Amino acid sequence: MKDLLKKLANAPGVSGFEKNVRNLIIEELTDYVDDIEVDNLGNLIIRKNGTSNSKKVMLAAHMDEVGLMVRYIDKKGFIKFSKIGGINDQTLLNQNIYVHTTTRKISGVIGSKPPHLMKEEERKKVVKHDDMFIDIGVSNKEEAEKIVNIGDPITIKQEFSQLQNNMFTGKSLDDRVGCCIIIEVMKRVESNATIYGVGTVQEEVGLKGARTSAFKINPDMAIALDVGISGDHPGIKEGEAPASAGKGPIIILTDASGDGIITHPKIKELLISTAESEKIPYQLAVTEGGTTDATAIHLTREGIPSGVLSPAVRYMHSPVEVVNLEDIENTVKLIVAALKIV
Ligand SMILES: [Zn+2]
Repeated sequence: MKDLLKKLANAPGVSGFEKNVRNLIIEELTDYVDDIEVDNLGNLIIRKNGTSNSKKVMLAAHMDEVGLMVRYIDKKGFIKFSKIGGINDQTLLNQNIYVHTTTRKISGVIGSKPPHLMKEEERKKVVKHDDMFIDIGVSNKEEAEKIVNIGDPITIKQEFSQLQNNMFTGKSLDDRVGCCIIIEVMKRVESNATIYGVGTVQEEVGLKGARTSAFKINPDMAIALDVGISGDHPGIKEGEAPASAGKGPIIILTDASGDGIITHPKIKELLISTAESEKIPYQLAVTEGGTTDATAIHLTREGIPSGVLSPAVRYMHSPVEVVNLEDIENTVKLIVAALKIV
């Protein structure tokens, strides 16, 4: 599982450019499932037929990650960029990056004015992404244009690695953790229902792929696998985000103060009772910010009973997200057990 998560996290997949992640999932699951399909928007829809009933269950994890995009190249060949998805400007300054062209990846750095040239007040201010630029080492616009293109996606250069204990860090654990869970579940699951494992596109920019794939599948129920906020580190007040990494998957009861999803009672009961009977640790959460694919899925057609299951992740939407591998394993176990009884 560690090696699988590593491959997924290291793969580039800014919203709208999920191909590498999609191919990795296809490669992993080809021998385990009944059908693999890519829809018009690029969603990956994987089907494993049930044995006896006609119920359809959709599991969704988004393949995309937050990132940047080439917006403009100036006379000297420096690149101005737009943010794709919710990124704090502070996490970008002086990072190593890759610009992904259609054929290769180009190394670059996000440059800044050295402290020596900053006035006292300037030093205290946060540099906005609009004032940042990417340096790929060229000497003018013409040279840059031969290498990169307007619209190319950009990711922070960050390798997946292990911290102490079972803690791992990398970029895009939101939501390659979910992709990893779907792969493992599709390999292990045995259910009377037909299971659809879906890798969705463009979640970070408006839950887009979830909407179209749920319409196509028209499932009887759905579970989104996405990461939840781990509030167990300095800077977060007690009660603000009570979940902790390493204490089992979070069963989301409500997100975005109810604007996202209020989990369907049937799904809530299924997940909690399965965790209890299988003795799998879990945490319950009511959150005030952030939504997942389940928000779009549950409002599809005539309404689809939906829920969210989330390993707790620290430092979300930064290049150094942190997850406990045991939480991923426990999430897989919980879903596999729940799907046995639907
Ligand atoms: Zn996510």
